Amino acid sequence: MADHTGKRASKRARRRIDTSSIKTTTLLSFVVFALFLVMVLWGLSNFFLNSFYERARSQEVIRTAETLETQFRQNNFGFGSLALQTASSNNIYIRIDVTDEALIFDGTREAEGSDTFEEDINRIKAKLEASATESISETRRDPSGMGSRLVYASYISASSTDNVLCIIAPLYPDPVTVRILRDMLIYISFIVLVVSLLLAFALSVRLSAPIEKLTRSATELSKGSHDVYFDGAGFTETKELARALNKASYEMERTDFYQREIIANVSHDLKTPLTMIRSYAEKIIDITGDNPEKRNADLNVIISETEHLNRLVTDMLSVSNLQSNNVVLNMETFDLVEAAESVYESFLALATSEGFEIHFHPCKPAYIVGDRTRMTQVMTNFVSNAVKYSGDNKYIDIRLSKSSKKVTFHCIDHGMGIPSDEIGHVWDKYYRTSANHERGIEGTGLGLAIVKGILNLHGAKYGVESEEGKGSDFWFEMETVKKPAAEDTEKKDG
Ligand code: ADP
Repeated sequence: MADHTGKRASKRARRRIDTSSIKTTTLLSFVVFALFLVMVLWGLSNFFLNSFYERARSQEVIRTAETLETQFRQNNFGFGSLALQTASSNNIYIRIDVTDEALIFDGTREAEGSDTFEEDINRIKAKLEASATESISETRRDPSGMGSRLVYASYISASSTDNVLCIIAPLYPDPVTVRILRDMLIYISFIVLVVSLLLAFALSVRLSAPIEKLTRSATELSKGSHDVYFDGAGFTETKELARALNKASYEMERTDFYQREIIANVSHDLKTPLTMIRSYAEKIIDITGDNPEKRNADLNVIISETEHLNRLVTDMLSVSNLQSNNVVLNMETFDLVEAAESVYESFLALATSEGFEIHFHPCKPAYIVGDRTRMTQVMTNFVSNAVKYSGDNKYIDIRLSKSSKKVTFHCIDHGMGIPSDEIGHVWDKYYRTSANHERGIEGTGLGLAIVKGILNLHGAKYGVESEEGKGSDFWFEMETVKKPAAEDTEKKDG
């Protein structure tokens, strides 16, 4: 039993220490940095302290000697007390040999006295005499074994070589000072480690908090709850991530909504003609089968409903082909104005029978490179929508305009228009505006999705300007090209 509990605990501990998490990484980085800092401090104090101290102390002693020389040359009074003070405050041994006596100022802590340094002084003085320089110094190992000492000699008065200044200075730090320094280093190391651990902990918590929050919201979203809010408070980057996730969540919600709408619409669109076909077939069997006139009328309804079904399925296929880029365009150079005119003409019969007033405003011939059949489909769709959604105002304008290297096609109606909050969706497949549902106008919501696919394949610009209750202007714009040479010749021949 105890064994099981132990195993479980160690498993849990292993799971808790995730080496790639922000927390562990920050913590480890800080600890490594702190350890490195401490090691550098200890390395410097152990390996470089002595040599650094030696160099600095030698320079300082030589500077002190120069000060003493200047003072001696300027004024002999008070020199004694200056030398004594210098010797004791600098922990050095000063000896000045004047004509027949030696002035000794022993400031060394051990106060080893003139005898101890006699040998050093005699040797350096001999060296000074032998050399042609004003001063000379050498470093010797200290007999105490604790380090080296500096032995210095110079001519102290400007005129005579009888007066010699000798200085002996230990070049190793005072052991007490070294111990205090070591102790301080231990405290500093401890403080650096603790502070960096605390800092690392605080930083890692602060860094990971918004990310953990975002992860929790994302988990909620993945479970299907759409009303989650991503909060990236804290850092600019997490705030930006939260903004992007909120947008994605909104888009997902919208897509979800449309998906449901689409399924409802499609099943409705498919079900209505199927119900009609079934009920008319039953009617033929039960009632009108023997009456050729009535039977034919019922059969015509069935045929028209199957045609409607056929159109719907063809449109569905077109949209899916266009969306999967599974369409081969039959590119040619043709006059868009001429193609628009044939679209206009195809609606003339309807205009007369249904009381529509369709006006065609062409511009000069505008040649474009494109698939004539598909571009005709685009224009037909615009005009048939204008007819469908015109309402009581049956006045429609088809307008073409040409400017430098561009031709624009407009289909303008004065019908029900599109509400501003829905205008962005009319190009989505299966989308039908709310007003349209209310009025029960027949449609699949696929026409403009097909138009969008075709225009995108042609690299055309397109859009719609519309005001609810006032009408709509559906348009597209394409690059024009030069009139093809073959047509030139044909026309001349003709
Ligand atoms: P539908 O088969 O429903 O006409 P479309 O894709 O051609 O499908 O159009 C999508 C929706 O855009 C239509 O259902 C309608 O709500 C709106 N729409 C398109 N053309 C017009 C227009 N000229 N005036 C008002 N609304 C329009």
